[in-house]
Amino acid sequence: MRRKLIAGNWKMNGLLADGVALAAGVAELAKPRSHKCDILICPPYTLLIETVRAVTGSSVAVGGQDCHAKVSGAHTGDVSAQMLTDLGCRYVILGHSERRADHGESDALIKAKAQSALAANLTPIVCVGETESQRDSGKTLEIVAGQLKGSLPDGGTAEKVVIAYEPVWAIGTGRTPTLDEVQEVHAMIRRESGLGQGLRILYGGSMKPSNAKELLALPDVDGGLIGGASLKVEDFWAIATACP
Ligand code: PEP
Repeated sequence: MRRKLIAGNWKMNGLLADGVALAAGVAELAKPRSHKCDILICPPYTLLIETVRAVTGSSVAVGGQDCHAKVSGAHTGDVSAQMLTDLGCRYVILGHSERRADHGESDALIKAKAQSALAANLTPIVCVGETESQRDSGKTLEIVAGQLKGSLPDGGTAEKVVIAYEPVWAIGTGRTPTLDEVQEVHAMIRRESGLGQGLRILYGGSMKPSNAKELLALPDVDGGLIGGASLKVEDFWAIATACP
């Protein structure tokens, strides 16, 4: 039985006071530990330390949104996986489509980052997903399988790696694939990853309180990677509590 993971990706949002209030709000709701899923929040680097402090003592985990592939060195502006672990992070999102697009990240680079995450004892959340034109031309499964093959770390196991399927055209748009389409891609990811039944595969792309229940009920959907709706405590919590 896979325990679901609900992960909030705050992206480049939040100043200190707002970020701390949001993290503390989630931690407060999680306190009774009556929820049926693991909860993760991934704030920008500037809020990591205070977020870790705000959730200390609760069951809420904290993660980064990216890391460098190297442990240290002359990489101005970058942050290593080890630095994230050092702050108290347990996860790191890698290969988000916004990083693939804004920073030209390749599958090979994402794989190298995922390897460094594993070496630093962080769980990488490796993101994959097709663009709208790729879906329209019937290439979704081929594209996602290729990204998976190129970006999964060597030596990863179902316990140490999480995959997020995020159709690029569904991110921040309010649109989602049909439930059958989501399930089809997730089942393929499980098969092609070779990581088996224990692997957690998150769905991301306009997940919100109104559609979370049906998405999270799909057999191969093991949680959500939530962007916009993770910025409001009530919405994020409504998604977390929609886990069956
Ligand atoms: C994301 O960016 O990972 C995401 C899923 O965003 P949203 O929920 O806003 O579509």
